[in-house]
Formats: sequence, C-alpha cells, structure tokens
Amino acid sequence: MADRPPPSSPEVSAFMRGMKRADTRPEIQLRRALHALGLRFRLHDARLPGRPDVVLPRSRIVVFVDGCFWHGCPDHGVAPKANAEFWRTKLEANRARDLRVDDALRALGWTAVRVWEHEAAGEAASRVALMCGRPAHRDD
Ligand SMILES: [Zn+2]
Repeated sequence: MADRPPPSSPEVSAFMRGMKRADTRPEIQLRRALHALGLRFRLHDARLPGRPDVVLPRSRIVVFVDGCFWHGCPDHGVAPKANAEFWRTKLEANRARDLRVDDALRALGWTAVRVWEHEAAGEAASRVALMCGRPAHRDD
C-alpha cells in the first residue's frame, strides 16, 4: 500500500485499528436499529461507488458509517502531531474521496447518508428512516 504511515511510529497502531473492516461495532448497532424500525437492506454492495455499508434499494438510499478519525469528524477528527504532514494529506484525501463517492452515487440516482461512528445508532437509524419516508419510531 502506498500510503502507509512511517514505520515504527505510534500512528502505525492507529492506522491498523482504523483499517476499513466490515462489521465494525457502530455498523452492527446501526443495522440492528434500522432493522428494528422495519427497514430492510443489503450490506456492503461492491457494485456501488464507495461500497456502501448499508444499501436500501427500495428508497435508493445508501448509508456509510464513517470513522471519526479517518473521515475527519468535526468533534473527534484530530490529526496526530507526529508525522503531521503525512496525516494532513492522508485525511484530506479521505474527505475528498468521500465527496467524490457521494457525487458518483448521486449521479446514479442514489442518496448517500453519512453517519459518524460516534452517533447514537437509534438516532442515526431514525434519520435514515425519515429519509426513506418511514416513521422514525415504530408504534408496535
Ligand atoms: Zn466523532
């Protein structure tokens, strides 16, 4: 991989922790919350730009659960001080890619919803449900 951090830095472990994995805990919690609201979805659709974490085909909505560090959350997206230039470039590239992915999805008729990993799953799911034209809370 071309953009690894310099070796033997404290950032290496952060890098490894932040590697994009399927099924992170915030993702699983969001999926449970969406399911509880009666929404049905596919996971990790590689045919769509950005390989969205959750795909709601009927509403043509996709959801990304963005890591606070990697995607530059306004509350927690602080670049490390060590190797500052490397990290600034890396994190800016990530944000630019997110915007490109959202644009590409929009061009295909999909709406991208981005959920921060720090967001409460229930609130995020309600937000998605409203966009899908569903009540945010089930009555039953
Ligand atoms: Zn955050």
